[in-house]
Amino acid sequence: MSHLTVNNDNEHEKILTIFDANSGLNAIIAIHSTHLGPAVGGCRMYPYVQEAHALKDALRLSRGMTYKSALAGLPFGGGKSVILGDPKQHKNPALLRAMGEFVETLAGRYVIAEDSGTSPDDMRIVAETTRYVAGTNATLREDPSPATARGVFMGIEAGVAHAFGNASLIGRSVAIQGLGHVGYHLAKYLTEAGAKVYGSDIHGENLNRAVKTLGVTAVSPDEILFQRCDVLAPCAMGAVLNKNSIAKLQTQVIAGAANNQLAEDEDDEGLRARGIAYCPDFAINAGGIIDIHHQQQNASHKTRKLAVDRIAQNVTNILEGAQKKRVGTQQIAAALAKEKLNPCSAKQQTPTWSGAA
Ligand code: NAD
Repeated sequence: MSHLTVNNDNEHEKILTIFDANSGLNAIIAIHSTHLGPAVGGCRMYPYVQEAHALKDALRLSRGMTYKSALAGLPFGGGKSVILGDPKQHKNPALLRAMGEFVETLAGRYVIAEDSGTSPDDMRIVAETTRYVAGTNATLREDPSPATARGVFMGIEAGVAHAFGNASLIGRSVAIQGLGHVGYHLAKYLTEAGAKVYGSDIHGENLNRAVKTLGVTAVSPDEILFQRCDVLAPCAMGAVLNKNSIAKLQTQVIAGAANNQLAEDEDDEGLRARGIAYCPDFAINAGGIIDIHHQQQNASHKTRKLAVDRIAQNVTNILEGAQKKRVGTQQIAAALAKEKLNPCSAKQQTPTWSGAA
């Protein structure tokens, strides 16, 4: 079992590459910041073609977690881990326990959680070898996706109000890429609010469920990004907004749950040039982590809902700030998050984890 601290990019506090011969674990843990608290962030398992892709993912996702928690006012830093491998073929209890052992060596600087390719059940196995796991205890069994969807919905209303002058979704069209855990709940909120919803999913079962139970209009996966609509909600994967796709979009607002929607940070300028209001992913998809934090505090349902609903105000501030300064929204959102990390405005926290597990 070995780990190696790789050359830092001057932005991350710690980047570990991990290899464990016994279990075959090959992973990366990226801790972007523990300034505001322990670096809480999910563990993604994916069959990356190259290790460089896995590293890029870990670096960008962990930075996004720092910004997400800072903007949401949570006492967490930002981290992320990635396991290289196909979860359907390579995931097993020995590998998950080995991952837990590495997390334990970080003594609470990084707190692992589920992400795509891992599940709450996997985290219960990870918890056999580390204390630093989020979302495994009895009170935290709830799926965070409905809260994430609620936050995205509030962000969509804020984006629509900015672009069209009022937040009403009656008769507005929304195209959702990905009708999985978040996308399905988002479609439900939207149809209940009177929106016309287009949706797409590469898994027929997920698409059919949304079509049959919510009346979503099916669109092919190749066409969903370019569907003519008022709001595009990417809820599947990252890097869908790049120079090629941006030129072909037919929407006024982009507001979805997927992490790292911009292929490059500068792509927010391309969206601005096209007059599209982009609601940065780390600002709009914070509902799940906000809710986990408030569950940990034993907050009431009303308090939890109000905390998630504050996402709307954050999105409005970002859209208005970007318009005023004539810069891309990603830039403004990152600047607002960094302000909260600034030693003058934020008290450095000792990374402690009260133990949600
Ligand atoms: P999920 O895996 O349940 O759903 C994703 C869906 O997208 C799946 O149904 C999948 O079949 C579909 N999909 C994949 N590629 C597609 C394509 N090319 N076209 C159409 N559909 C496609 O994941 P989720 O939990 O709903 O999360 C969605 C996104 O939001 C992910 O990027 C995730 O990282 C992010 N996110 C999720 C949460 C959460 O609480 N679940 C929180 C923050 C961010």
